[in-house]
Amino acid sequence: MELFTHLDFDGHEQVVFSQNERDGLKSIIAIHSSRLGPALGGCRVWDYATEAEALTDVLRLSRGMSYKAALAGLPLGGGKSVILADRSEKTPEMMRAMGRAVERLGGRYIIAEDVGVEVADMDEVAKETRHVSGISGGVGDPSPWTAEGVFLSLQAAVKHRLGRGLDGIGVSVKGLGHVGSNLCGLLAGAGAKLVVSDIREEAVKAMAEAHGASPIGVDDAHAAEVDVFAPCALGAGLNEKTIPQINAKVVCGAANNQLAVAEDDDRLAARGILYAPDYLVNAGGLISVARPSTGLSDAEARTKLEAIPDTLTQVFALAETDGVAPGAAADRLARKTLEPV
Ligand code: NAD
Repeated sequence: MELFTHLDFDGHEQVVFSQNERDGLKSIIAIHSSRLGPALGGCRVWDYATEAEALTDVLRLSRGMSYKAALAGLPLGGGKSVILADRSEKTPEMMRAMGRAVERLGGRYIIAEDVGVEVADMDEVAKETRHVSGISGGVGDPSPWTAEGVFLSLQAAVKHRLGRGLDGIGVSVKGLGHVGSNLCGLLAGAGAKLVVSDIREEAVKAMAEAHGASPIGVDDAHAAEVDVFAPCALGAGLNEKTIPQINAKVVCGAANNQLAVAEDDDRLAARGILYAPDYLVNAGGLISVARPSTGLSDAEARTKLEAIPDTLTQVFALAETDGVAPGAAADRLARKTLEPV
């Protein structure tokens, strides 16, 4: 397995492999950059097929956090951690061992929840380190913040691409969970016409009842006859197969890692579809959870949330001047922010 020459290594500052056989911990903590502040990022518990797959995942996620924090204007670096285990193998002892691994980094990495990790797990971690976010009694659910950032971004993207407001605009929201359902409420309030889909029928029904949304099948959601496609389920929804079928002129949603591969950024641009980069528009949740560790007041956090659409407009302008797709332009802007002065 390659380390320093790994395709996703990308100048990572520090990668820590920790093992504690007694407590069943095998983890990797990746700190991509701490130039702007301590590296805040979630911990994923996942039964990876190979150790190489775990390393690739943590390196990619950690770099993504650096870029997200940089574009959100947060005094935070980017990091992430993975525990190589099935979530059924998780124990309080394992999480406490993870807490000690975090503590040994002396605050350079702040751990939080990600896939496979609950608030109760972070409460265990917190018994060993104070460099933890997302514990009981903390800042609460980040989803409404994420939804609002996506909503404001969607408004800015529609203005940029279609030169109009949201009243009467058709939006296909795929994924009606914590973020998607909040987003539907905001869109309906702004007069948008909703087309909704989820694998959970009850979620679709709830949106139809609350906002008069029209249901569509999950496999057809991206191809709906609407102005905007808002992916709010899982990643990799924008790919070689789906992009040619998209009828919307704007893609703007909360899901992480929407592009299956980097080339999908260009594929969307070539079809005249304006893509609002996922890690920029979904940063509202990070802004919310960053409040305790950064000391940001609620008002300061709100100002950062409301600045997301301005940064998005800046990214669209950069894409046009540099002749690149918006995803690449966002990466450029983030890397510039991370450059040593
Ligand atoms: P969630 O688990 O509450 O909701 C996801 C929804 O997607 C569920 O209702 C699920 O049934 C549905 N779904 C799953 N597979 C689907 C499919 N194939 N087709 C249609 N629907 C499907 O998650 P969430 O917190 O709302 O997050 C949604 C997305 O936004 C995720 O990709 C997440 O990583 C990203 N995100 C969330 C936040 C946040 O604050 N919660 C922040 C940043 C990014």
